[in-house]
Amino acid sequence: MKIGFIGLGNMGAPMAQNLMAAGHFVTGFDTIAAPHGVALAANAADAAKDADVVITMLPNGAILQAVADQIVPQMPKGAVLLDCSTVDVETARNVAQQAVDAGCLALDAPVSGGIGGASAGTLTFMVGGSDKAYEIAMPLFEIMGQKSVHCGPSGNGQAAKICNNMILGITMIGTCEAFALADKLGLDRQAMFDVVSTSSGYSWSMNAYCPAPGIGPTSPADNEYTPGFAADLMLKDLRLSQQAAHAADADTPLGQAATDLYETFVENEDGAGKDFSAMLPRFEKRKRP
Ligand code: NAD
Repeated sequence: MKIGFIGLGNMGAPMAQNLMAAGHFVTGFDTIAAPHGVALAANAADAAKDADVVITMLPNGAILQAVADQIVPQMPKGAVLLDCSTVDVETARNVAQQAVDAGCLALDAPVSGGIGGASAGTLTFMVGGSDKAYEIAMPLFEIMGQKSVHCGPSGNGQAAKICNNMILGITMIGTCEAFALADKLGLDRQAMFDVVSTSSGYSWSMNAYCPAPGIGPTSPADNEYTPGFAADLMLKDLRLSQQAAHAADADTPLGQAATDLYETFVENEDGAGKDFSAMLPRFEKRKRP
C-alpha cells in the first residue's frame, strides 16, 4: 500500500519503519522529526495526496484537527484516514465525519504498548470506525501490533483507551499508596508483593509494572523511574477521561482524584519526565495532611 505517515515522533517513527520493513511505500511528514530512512514530503498534504491510507500519530486533538483540515481535501476518494494518536472523543468523531463527508473512510485507533511496543511491532490498537475501514487497515495493524480490537463506531477506540488509562492511573495510585502505607507499618515489600500479587488487590500496576524497585518483574522503578510511560502522558490521558466524563455527564470521582494528583505531581512537584509509577517515592516522602 501507499501510506502517508504524519507525525514521526517517538511512536510514529518506529511504526513507519515497521511498515516500510514489511514492504509498504511510506511517505512521511513531521514539522520537526526526520527519522532515518523515511522518505519525507514537503508538507502534510503532499504526504497524503496519493495515499491508500494516511496514518496520523500526533500530540493532541487540536493538532490532529489542524492536520486533518490540510490533508482530507487532498486524500483520494476511498482512502482511509487512520488516526493512532490519543485525542479526545469529540475531535476523533469530528475528524472521522470530515473524512467521510469527503468520500474517504476513517478510523480512530489509539494504541497501548508505548515506545517499546511501537519498535517491536507489538502494539494493541483500540479501533473505532466502519467495518470496511477496519478491514482495509487490518494488515497494517498486524504489522505494527499484535492485537487490534474493533470497539464500534468512530470515537469508540478513543473511548476504550481513555477508560483503560483511567483505570490504570487509579490502580497505580492505589498500589503506590498501599506500598507507602505498608512501609510505614513495617511490612516487607517483597512480602507485600507476594501477598497482593496473588490476592484480590492484584492488578497490572502491581503484577506487571510494580512501582517498588527490585520487586516483581523488571519495570521503570528498577531504572530510577525513567519512563516507561511518563507521568506527563498519564496526566494527558486522565485529563481526556475527565473531559469525556464531563461531556457524557458521567460521575468519575476517582478518575478526577487521579487527575488532580498527577497534575500536582507533574506541574508542582518533580514528576515531569518521570515514569508514572514514581508516585511511590512521592507518597513515601509525604506525611498525612
Ligand atoms: P511525540 O511528541 O514524540 O511525537 C509527535 C510528533 O508529531 C512530533 O515529532 C512532532 O514534531 C509532530 N508534529 C506536531 N505537530 C505536527 C504537525 N502539525 N504536522 C506534522 N507533525 C507534527 O509523541 P509520541 O510519544 O510519539 O506520541 C504520539 C501520540 O501517541 C500521542 O497522542 C500520545 O498520547 C500517544 N501515545 C504515546 C505513547 C508513548 O508511550 N509515547 C503511548 C501510547 C500513546
